[in-house]
Amino acid sequence: MLLFAILKEKILKHSLIFFWMFITAPAPARAPVHSYTPGKADSSSRPPWVTDDSFSQKFAPGKITTSVTKHTLARGAPAPSPTPAVARGTIQRAERFPASNRTPLCGHCNSIIRGPFLVAMGRSWHPEEFNCAYCKTSLADVCFVEEQNSVYCERCYEQFFAPTCARCHTKIMGEVMHALRQTWHTTCFVCAACKKPFGNSLFHMEDGEPYCEKDYIALFSTKCHGCDFPVEAGDKFIEALGHTWHDTCFICAVCHVNLEGQPFYSKKDKPLCKKHAHAINV
Ligand SMILES: [Zn+2]
Ligand SMILES: [Zn+2]
Ligand SMILES: [Zn+2]
Ligand SMILES: [Zn+2]
Ligand SMILES: [Zn+2]
Ligand SMILES: [Zn+2]
Repeated sequence: MLLFAILKEKILKHSLIFFWMFITAPAPARAPVHSYTPGKADSSSRPPWVTDDSFSQKFAPGKITTSVTKHTLARGAPAPSPTPAVARGTIQRAERFPASNRTPLCGHCNSIIRGPFLVAMGRSWHPEEFNCAYCKTSLADVCFVEEQNSVYCERCYEQFFAPTCARCHTKIMGEVMHALRQTWHTTCFVCAACKKPFGNSLFHMEDGEPYCEKDYIALFSTKCHGCDFPVEAGDKFIEALGHTWHDTCFICAVCHVNLEGQPFYSKKDKPLCKKHAHAINV
């Protein structure tokens, strides 16, 4: 039977996504309702390092804050500065120290601490003064998060600052991934097929789901029936015999002459030129 093929130029059906992702600690979702301090002017309750730049120089603790995430240096590690840089949103924990000959300055009231003290964020604190800036709960023995020069309990931080993950819709504590103008847990922004995180590699979107290059091609690209490689955006291709072919792959199965724009014959899904229309060993 004499057939004709239709040559087409593949239109970009699935747009390639080249958004670079980056990971940061969260940006504030919204500020908390104004922190309330009964009977006190707001400035008086501000911690001293806010108003006193040299404050952190007055006391260099030998030990620094321990942390449950990889962002902070481990206990005993050399501290590059009195206040080690901690990524925003990092969950930290204060360390308790017993009373000793050390009498550090308190980071809250700026007076000398005699007796047990806490060390957090590279400073020392009266244990009873190290409290959540919003709900005032003690942070002496629980995890806290530093935000805008204040410390918050995890609950308050989650409520007021933590961004929401676009996939699982829960709040993100710790590392945040930014992609597609949304925020994600690093563990939630993964290939919809193989579930591997993308890191900094490219990904493709299909039906609102991101896919890694490999799975995207495997699942969604059109493959050439001649060479089995995908027909990519911009490629010229032919639709014939119920399949898609690169224009250069649409050739006679016997003599390999290009059949683009030529009448052709077929046997077992394979195109044949007029001369080989009745070939037996195809
Ligand atoms: Zn104090
Ligand atoms: Zn709180
Ligand atoms: Zn999530
Ligand atoms: Zn994948
Ligand atoms: Zn091909
Ligand atoms: Zn031929």
